[in-house]
Amino acid sequence: MSVLSEFCRNLKKDFTPKIKDPTRPVRCWSEKDVLAGKIVDAFVIIFRTRGCSWALNSGCTMCGYFNDSMWERISDENLLKQFETAMKRYSGEKFVKIFTSGSFLDDTEIKPRVRNEILDKLVETADKVSVESRPEYITDDKLLDIKNISQSKTFEIGTGLETANDFVREHAINKGFTFDDYKNAADVLKKNDCELKTYVLVKPPFLTEKESIEDAVGTIEKIKTITDVVSLNPTNVQRNTLVDYLWKRKQYRPAWLWSVVEILKRSKKTAGNVRIKCDIAGGGGIRGAHNCRECDSKFLEAISSFSLHQDVKIFDDLDCNCYDKWLDQIDIENIGFGSLVNMYG
Ligand code: SF4
Ligand SMILES: [Zn+2]
Repeated sequence: MSVLSEFCRNLKKDFTPKIKDPTRPVRCWSEKDVLAGKIVDAFVIIFRTRGCSWALNSGCTMCGYFNDSMWERISDENLLKQFETAMKRYSGEKFVKIFTSGSFLDDTEIKPRVRNEILDKLVETADKVSVESRPEYITDDKLLDIKNISQSKTFEIGTGLETANDFVREHAINKGFTFDDYKNAADVLKKNDCELKTYVLVKPPFLTEKESIEDAVGTIEKIKTITDVVSLNPTNVQRNTLVDYLWKRKQYRPAWLWSVVEILKRSKKTAGNVRIKCDIAGGGGIRGAHNCRECDSKFLEAISSFSLHQDVKIFDDLDCNCYDKWLDQIDIENIGFGSLVNMYG
């Protein structure tokens, strides 16, 4: 086990999950998304499972999803009770997104029987179901089962590639798989007629703001012919993670929203046909991507609007005095040897 893996594992050593009720999902809600080129309501369910197998082993440096997990096996009956609870709030949205804070296709999180029952029910109404999974669980067998249930409905899998750079993924993110693993999973998805959404991380730890912009733009360039959708994910500082450890010591600053806009503008130009979206968890807060506070809400609205409409013109009107500070940060950070990470808060 690498030093980084060991460090991430040790951070969770004394962690005890706070939530004890295995019959209730973490959350469910309705939000806007795009289905077949149209803006529609999408229903989102976050299941509470035992947790991501990789997180239970050591975990990614920025991921605190395990804070919502049970860390012990949840029975099939309880997972189905969570589904029942969520379905009470379902109003027939045509697009349903399922998150488990791990991998929907990992049998140790959700058994095939439960997975199939959930999908069976959803495809009665939904035209598209989206789930998430690490590449190692994306296999022909599992997709065959799923396609037998979903038939002509669209099935999408979101996977957290984070970066196309294997060095960054291994030494800054501790992701535990390679770019080739991701490409192989993408091939399996294509072969089985499923769609791929790829998460790209903005501002992994140990990268400067500028390095992170170039890393994200370069990643989208490399995957634009592989993925159907790119979801840009600016890191937010989640508790009990390596990012949280660095942030508390003033050695990490979440991305500037200027950087996020820069990535979206440049990537849309080169990867025009791929839908690029960006959900900013914790945006505008000190733990999330932010600018100077004054302009944060304007930026967040523009980024949400871009995610739905894909029109970079929405960014033309963005302006604020903090633009020069952001440029300064990008100019100076390289000669600061990491000591300028929190130059402007
Ligand atoms: S980012 Fe995904 S793979 Fe990494 S620990 Fe979190 S849930 Fe697991
Ligand atoms: Zn500002």
